[in-house]
Amino acid sequence: MKLTKIVSNLLDSNTFVLENHGKVIVFDAGVDAMQVANVVGNKKVVAVFLTHGHYDHAFFANGYAKFFGCKIYASKDIKDCLSDADKNYSEGALSLSDFSNFIFLEKDGKLEIGEFEVKYFSTPGHSKCGMSFLVGNDFFVGDLVFKQGIGRTDLFGGDKKQMLESLKKVQGINFEILHSGHGEDSSCLEQERNLKTFVRFLSR
Ligand SMILES: [Zn+2]
Repeated sequence: MKLTKIVSNLLDSNTFVLENHGKVIVFDAGVDAMQVANVVGNKKVVAVFLTHGHYDHAFFANGYAKFFGCKIYASKDIKDCLSDADKNYSEGALSLSDFSNFIFLEKDGKLEIGEFEVKYFSTPGHSKCGMSFLVGNDFFVGDLVFKQGIGRTDLFGGDKKQMLESLKKVQGINFEILHSGHGEDSSCLEQERNLKTFVRFLSR
């Protein structure tokens, strides 16, 4: 498997392109389809996964679906966020009404797509529509957890209690590398410390 990170102009969010045996899946959509296509080359994009509905992570999702002819996998709660520019913080730029390319996920589960097995976990807290995705040892969490710290809970759909529950859930998931929606990756060991600290803070 080969993983490429593209940093966007939208608040420096990360878009991840994961390739395996000529098939590609993309996590988040902060850069336009051409930038993804430049990385992908002649391989086939089979799916896009959205960690949540904030504009810096989801803006180009429908563009990918049209350009690559693939589906978008996201929490069922993302509709509310993507259809309302105030809730996705795009300042009027993103208010989706066409969800025909979306496949909505609920709770936790597992998908087999192309060459990939993707485990998905409902992880609200930073956003009600928060989802995290595990492929092999790579864990994509969006803005739930960062290398040093956790996501904001004061934005629309954020919730401290849900954040605490999601952090506890992450503590129980086996991964090697955690890929955040902004900034650097972190190791399981680094996250062990980080998660323990914030679980303690939020439990007070
Ligand atoms: Zn966010």
